[in-house]
Amino acid sequence: MVVTADQNLVRKHNTAIVLNVLRHRAPLSRAELAAYTGLNRSTVSSIVNGLVADHLVQETTLQSDRVGRPGMLLELNPNGGFAIGIEIGVDFISIIVADFVANVLWRDRVDTDPSDGEKTILDRAYDLTQTALEFGRSRGLTPLGVGLGLPGIVDLEHGQLMLAPNLGWKNTPLAEMWTQRFDLPVFVENDGNAAALGEYYFGAARGHNTFIYLSAGVGLGAGIVLDGKLYRGSQGYAAEIGHMTIDPKGELCGCGKRGCLETVTGPRAVVRSVHQALDRGRPSLLRSDRPASEVITFDMIVEASRQGDQVARQALIQAGRMLGLGVANLVNIFNPEMIVLGGILNIANDLLLPVIQETVLANALDISCQALQITASSHGTEACVIGAVALVLENIHSAPRF
Ligand SMILES: [Zn+2]
Repeated sequence: MVVTADQNLVRKHNTAIVLNVLRHRAPLSRAELAAYTGLNRSTVSSIVNGLVADHLVQETTLQSDRVGRPGMLLELNPNGGFAIGIEIGVDFISIIVADFVANVLWRDRVDTDPSDGEKTILDRAYDLTQTALEFGRSRGLTPLGVGLGLPGIVDLEHGQLMLAPNLGWKNTPLAEMWTQRFDLPVFVENDGNAAALGEYYFGAARGHNTFIYLSAGVGLGAGIVLDGKLYRGSQGYAAEIGHMTIDPKGELCGCGKRGCLETVTGPRAVVRSVHQALDRGRPSLLRSDRPASEVITFDMIVEASRQGDQVARQALIQAGRMLGLGVANLVNIFNPEMIVLGGILNIANDLLLPVIQETVLANALDISCQALQITASSHGTEACVIGAVALVLENIHSAPRF
């Protein structure tokens, strides 16, 4: 029988469906797999046999509690290979090696400075990728690909970073550069979108098809998942929630406009409002007479707040209220099941989550809040790298993007 290109494509597509159903619902029997995928049983069997031969799926004996369901159950094989997830942040690079079921086997994180320039930062990232590859291979695992998350606008089709305002990078063909160097499939994604995928596949949003992920770092990243799919907008620029206008006369934002949500909610805004309070002479553990070399950081403010410092506490509450207003607007527009909050603000979740919840309840439509859950990210500052791994695992049997 001659297999046409179309048939190959259909099989790849069906294989991706089988793997993704197993990822969300395993262990499953072949019959259950057929029911969940909507594929017929012979197609499922043929695909499963191929996946078992490739060591991506294994048969398990975990069927003892499933009376009346003869036959082995199927699950993903953790040793089916390894994926590398990298986040190039504004002032750090974070990298993990994860097995086929996204268990993190190795991690590293280094500080960077955007003023080091694109080449220096990329060289650092290449070195880390090389170390990650060597680690995975030393475990006897096969590399499946590299996922990259960045704080910018990404052309998915070409794996190109179009613009990253906080890094100062423009038109960087990342997928091409990584592929040439490492000869592996490479997937590039906006950091907020990647983190949303990480929470959807392996974190707080598992089982929720309509949710919004928000992450505050230097900027405010976000990913919107509607009906199980990332919403990207007509050109891929959607979910720029950090640039929602909150105060047209406010602070200048990295995007060139004024008063965007990220200018009033992120760690920078918290630090700025502490400085303003100190300048007004408010008493605080973070007193204004500290030496100029000792900069007040977000972590110091969180710590001071835990020790009862009112200046620190008020600055955090103010940022939480502003973020709550942004979330209330999103709840009215999208009616999500869940809002997942990640990034550096997670450090202060004990204080911020109740403030955000209160603000959303006070400002969003009551009917949209009834079933709404607002929760902290499962992966904290690693949501993006876990999502970068999810990009690789999700796309193993899909058609390559470039
Ligand atoms: Zn902006």
